[in-house]
Amino acid sequence: MTEKQKVLPRVGSAADAVLATMEQARGEDAQWRSGKVWSLVYNAGDETTELLKRAYTMFFSENALNPTAFPSLKRMESEVVSMTAHLLGGDAHAVGSMTSGGTESILMAVKAAREWGRANGRGGKTPEIVLPITAHPAFEKAAHYFGMKTVYVPMAEDLRVDMRKMRRAVNRRTVLLVGSAPQYPHGPVDPIEEIAALAKARGILCHVDACVGGFMLPFVRELGYPVPAFDLSVPGVTSMSVDLHKYAYAAKPASVVLYRSPELRKHQFFAYTNWPGGIYVSPTMTGSRPGGAIAAAWAIMHFLGHEGYLKIAQEVMTARDKLKDGINAIDGLYIMGDPIMSVMGIGAKRPLDIYEIGDHMSERGWHMDRQQSPNSLHLTINRGHIISADAFLADLADAVRLSQRDNKTYMKQQILMTSMNAALRVIPAPLVSRLTRVASKAMGLGGGTDGGDGLPKRTAAMYGMMASLPNKGDLDDIAIDILDGLTRFDPKSRIEEAAAPVSDAAGE
Ligand SMILES: *Cc1c(COP(=O)(O)O)cnc(C)c1O
Repeated sequence: MTEKQKVLPRVGSAADAVLATMEQARGEDAQWRSGKVWSLVYNAGDETTELLKRAYTMFFSENALNPTAFPSLKRMESEVVSMTAHLLGGDAHAVGSMTSGGTESILMAVKAAREWGRANGRGGKTPEIVLPITAHPAFEKAAHYFGMKTVYVPMAEDLRVDMRKMRRAVNRRTVLLVGSAPQYPHGPVDPIEEIAALAKARGILCHVDACVGGFMLPFVRELGYPVPAFDLSVPGVTSMSVDLHKYAYAAKPASVVLYRSPELRKHQFFAYTNWPGGIYVSPTMTGSRPGGAIAAAWAIMHFLGHEGYLKIAQEVMTARDKLKDGINAIDGLYIMGDPIMSVMGIGAKRPLDIYEIGDHMSERGWHMDRQQSPNSLHLTINRGHIISADAFLADLADAVRLSQRDNKTYMKQQILMTSMNAALRVIPAPLVSRLTRVASKAMGLGGGTDGGDGLPKRTAAMYGMMASLPNKGDLDDIAIDILDGLTRFDPKSRIEEAAAPVSDAAGE
């Protein structure tokens, strides 16, 4: 069967058969259970996972869109927000909302800043956000969605935002300053006290993105590690984003956006009172909101409690120390900057190519993000990695040895890159974009037109090519082409359904 479209089956299959097919389909998925995935999944162990599933399914069908229909969910959400605010230096005035993740929390804080600017005569037609280049792309997405402008500030030597340059980037149109605690690529915490003081002095807002750090840093500090001030206790910080589906080990999707005061949060809300369907109010981006995610977050916070999170943080930091020291001990590799907690970047000294090392690690089933400017691999260490840290270090040392041997292929690739780079500079811009599309296909990147899976096999080659492009705008096109390919039905990789008994669903 190779139809171009997937068609709804005429008759259903038995539930067991459907589930068996899905079980088989996930066979090639990333092996997070054995601690081989260094992002995407935060795993606190089987006991917590079981609790999350039970709590989630208890409120599986409920919809938190209307808080009056399900007062239990309304209470749970406001308690989750209150506990999070208290943990992060908020007083009794602090308020917030649960959202579907860090991105939505950030979208909401940025939207609130835009509305705040409008209400207070700040920002003009295109309000500006001043933020470190290391800030999460969700801010760029927010600016893209809400008609705002981002002004990026480079890192200083220590990989934190350069404050001198940040000061210079603020102008009359700026409504929001951003700092991350910590920044995701390398793990240092931006100088939040200075950023917040600058915002306060200029009479504008300051958002702290603690998506990854919110449920680690308070515990890491309590364990005795040095953690700079970063939360709502810092004067001038007006909002924060804190993901629960990261280090709070809640079920996806769950995050919290916090505000210093209810007045600020009102700028986030939406109301439309002219609809024939009734008066419509909605706190966040989404309409219907999954009750299960709220219930699971409430459950895990009560199951673990402060002591539970502290204990997990201790275990994670022990694994972090082992990995950090182990990586620094491998000749040619180093940890970048000073990671405050358990996210960090791995760099390689020349002539080693960190992407080449990453490819060798991928071949052994390890999943790590590739980072750029400067090139590095990323680690997010959580409780699920305690069991895999030793094996990771052993494989990493091997990967470095293999890359040293690979140096010949690497040199060949470099020569190719350099000549392509030179060619690209003399070709007119419209041609470059077509050429890069062709080149990306040739390098196994797929593309939108052939319905290939678009998954790069050797990322070292891909990133080499991307770095050599003179026009970064072309990269957006390529990336969007890849996404287009990835999100289409592909007859070649369709899920094969097992021949199965017919379900009795139609007869129910
Ligand atoms: C994960 C993360 C985000 C985005 O969160 P999602 O849940 O993926 O939408 C934003 N900022 C930082 C620092 C993050 O680590």
